[in-house]
Amino acid sequence: MFPSLLPTYNRADVAFVRGEGPYIFAEDGSRYLDFGAGVAVNALGHAHPKLVAALTEQAQRLWHTSNYYRVAGQETLSKRLVESTFADTVFFGNSGAEAIECAIKMARRYHYVNGEAERFHIVTFEGAFHGRTMAAIAAGGQAKYLEGFGPKVEGFDQVPMNDLAALEAAITPQTAALLIEPIQGEGGIRVADREFLRALRRLCDERGILLIFDEIQSGVGRTGKFFAHEWVGVTPDIMAVAKGIGGGFPMGACLATAEAAKGMTAGTHGSTFGGNPLGMAVGNAVLDVVLAPGFLEHVEKIANYFRQQLAGLIAEHPGVFEELRGAGLMLGLKLKVPVADFVAKLRAHGMLAIPAGDNVMRLLPPLIIEEEHVREAMRLLSETGAEFDSAKSDDTKTGVAA
Ligand SMILES: *Cc1c(COP(=O)(O)O)cnc(C)c1O
Repeated sequence: MFPSLLPTYNRADVAFVRGEGPYIFAEDGSRYLDFGAGVAVNALGHAHPKLVAALTEQAQRLWHTSNYYRVAGQETLSKRLVESTFADTVFFGNSGAEAIECAIKMARRYHYVNGEAERFHIVTFEGAFHGRTMAAIAAGGQAKYLEGFGPKVEGFDQVPMNDLAALEAAITPQTAALLIEPIQGEGGIRVADREFLRALRRLCDERGILLIFDEIQSGVGRTGKFFAHEWVGVTPDIMAVAKGIGGGFPMGACLATAEAAKGMTAGTHGSTFGGNPLGMAVGNAVLDVVLAPGFLEHVEKIANYFRQQLAGLIAEHPGVFEELRGAGLMLGLKLKVPVADFVAKLRAHGMLAIPAGDNVMRLLPPLIIEEEHVREAMRLLSETGAEFDSAKSDDTKTGVAA
């Protein structure tokens, strides 16, 4: 019989019933240290009292009105995002893919209203992940996500990351925008070089191309800045945001400069649920915490501590771990053993992490962790690493190649 739930996911056989801070509890009562945070979504951990209060308070008053009317929470949240970023304006949706769709449409529309409708191509980068809608899989360019879904949406050209010569060769008079994750998430925590990002900005300025950053995973405090590109001192024209901005409530946003957004007039775009009052209440509460004095400094400090410890872990188990990647609390451990096996063993030891491409395990803990949680994580990672060490030495003893 076909499963009642469309089987598009490879799920681990565990269901969670409750969470508290960096911990999550399964049906059988077992506790896990959650360093996956629902893929960087639970930025403030589970059941953060301020988010619970904001959501329940809003839930008692008003859930939904549609965008035929003003929504006070959208007005507040957009103003706060504008005040804290490069952007002049914000569109709210419900997911990362929707934020990317808005960014793509906005870039194409910008050139259209400039009288250059033929300029609709967007250059993206190998290893990218931008979501699962038809346009987002075309932008991501990964064969495994495109296969069987018919003609790829036209107008996406892909080049290797950090390769300026290849990028220059790919730019044509039809190029509307460049779309990049400052730090690739699902691609394996691959960081774009500072100089590369600066060169992208320069190229865009010289040729009237829009620069789009996908900060769906790297944003909202994840790297110790509000957005990762702040480390580089380069700003985009358009930016897609989601995941952490809702702290677990489905939410996305597309931020832009007034110039980039000038084609997006009434009727050009919309979303029934986008900017729903419940989501806006939670989004505003997330910003209350993330933008409070000292919070981002805490992220940076705890991240530095975690990174130091992880460097030690690699030295301790050189047969298991290869290298550490990433920034802030968006970290990746490249493994020498299959990442799916490691993540499963780690879960058996009581800790959650997220697999990524390039045999990398993502560590995306909630931003509220303290040193004690890092120490617990190190103990669980080390125990799991040791299990792989001894499996390898058993193989050697019996003459099986490791
Ligand atoms: C998760 C993610 C997306 C897609 O977000 P959805 O909410 O799953 O649509 C896009 N880009 C990046 C960088 C992501 O991490």
